[in-house]
Amino acid sequence: SKTRPEIPMEIILANPRGFCAGVNMAITCLEEAVRLFGSGIYVYHEIVHNQYVVNRFTKEGVSFVNDLKEVPEGSILLFSAHGVSPEIRSLAKERRLKSIDATCPLVTKVHLEALKYARENYNIILVGHEGHDEVIGTMGEAPESITLVETAEDVEKLPFTTEERLAYLTQTTLSVQEATEVITALKNRYPQIVSPPKEDICYATTNRQDAVHQLVTQADILLVLGSQNSSNSQRLKEIGSTHGIPAYLIDGEADLKDEWFKDSSRVLITAGASAPEVVVQDCVEHLRKKFNAQIKEVTLQEEKVQFPLPKSLRVLQNTI
Ligand code: SF4
Repeated sequence: SKTRPEIPMEIILANPRGFCAGVNMAITCLEEAVRLFGSGIYVYHEIVHNQYVVNRFTKEGVSFVNDLKEVPEGSILLFSAHGVSPEIRSLAKERRLKSIDATCPLVTKVHLEALKYARENYNIILVGHEGHDEVIGTMGEAPESITLVETAEDVEKLPFTTEERLAYLTQTTLSVQEATEVITALKNRYPQIVSPPKEDICYATTNRQDAVHQLVTQADILLVLGSQNSSNSQRLKEIGSTHGIPAYLIDGEADLKDEWFKDSSRVLITAGASAPEVVVQDCVEHLRKKFNAQIKEVTLQEEKVQFPLPKSLRVLQNTI
């Protein structure tokens, strides 16, 4: 049904949204590192995939690198929330870097599963997006044993037989629906395939997607706060598109365009796991002022997950 412009704008704020426990831990870890060791710190890859967060730390003097050659010997180096391959860890050691590991424990879980299956001579199928930092890190644990698939069509092209030992793992931030399709294709083709007892798509990814699925039918536009290279944010935006409403993935208020709201009176807002709440609130404030929007927050799930700061931070603190 067509919306009427005279209806005042309603904002539906999806909850849970925004920071997950892994992102929270990684950012707190970097804050602590800056506090303890000063700002001449290096981070391998973006600490989390978010422009606002990266800009903030860059202003404080933190350097983000994609190549360890850029890091002077002896420096302090943080590994981002997405994790790294063993190759990067040993490169860091060779350069005598003092490393702090801010990898999310739920990513480490997938790494350990890869190692276990590789040790037990399984061929591992990893469901994930090529080139994503997390996928590169996980594949690096057992490059000879892991094959990446992105779609159900990729499953058809796999070279394995129904006699071989096969296991599957997934990236933590996939679309639950799409992953289910790929996994179904894997199980149909390879009835013998095994997987870890607890799935790899993390609680935060699942909860943010669930909330949008439940609220999307009440909205005629979806705004997702997050950066373009944030996988879980892209997946949230796709839910809007799948339901046939315009969906935009934006870094903040500056990206909002008034014309998006010409025919929209019901705006669903969520945020990816790496987007800070301040960018959400700035957008809400903008829409409230501009369109006299009424705000309603809908909570579908309480999240109580918390991760402790990495041991490597303490260890370094005691040696310096
Ligand atoms: Fe960890 Fe999930 Fe957050 Fe990624 S999205 S950092 S796996 S909790």
